[in-house]
Amino acid sequence: MSDSIDELPPEEHKRINLLSEQARVAKDRYARESAKLKADMAHMRGLLVNLKREATDARKAHVEAYTALGISRQREWQRARTSKGQCRLCGDPSEPDEKHCAKHLSHLSVNVKQAKKARIVQP
Ligand SMILES: [Zn+2]
Repeated sequence: MSDSIDELPPEEHKRINLLSEQARVAKDRYARESAKLKADMAHMRGLLVNLKREATDARKAHVEAYTALGISRQREWQRARTSKGQCRLCGDPSEPDEKHCAKHLSHLSVNVKQAKKARIVQP
């Protein structure tokens, strides 16, 4: 291997020049792309801030709406689930004309309540 670059054969010079040209092109492309990405990120950050603000405003409006109705947040949540046909407790599809799923209907049945009153531990 030669010590000086001048002692290299011409084809090696050509190869080194090609590689340095490729490196320069890649560096330019990196600078261009990273500037573009930085601009995109700033834009996305702005969008995210706007989205957060919108979500906060929507949440505040929602809270005000159910406060005006005079019902609690929990009751509002139960009503929303019932209107979607979901169980109030777990969100599974509820039985027709019922507010709970089959599992929770049986759980809430009279027998269970009586058993609880009698302090019998259920399996
Ligand atoms: Zn359920």
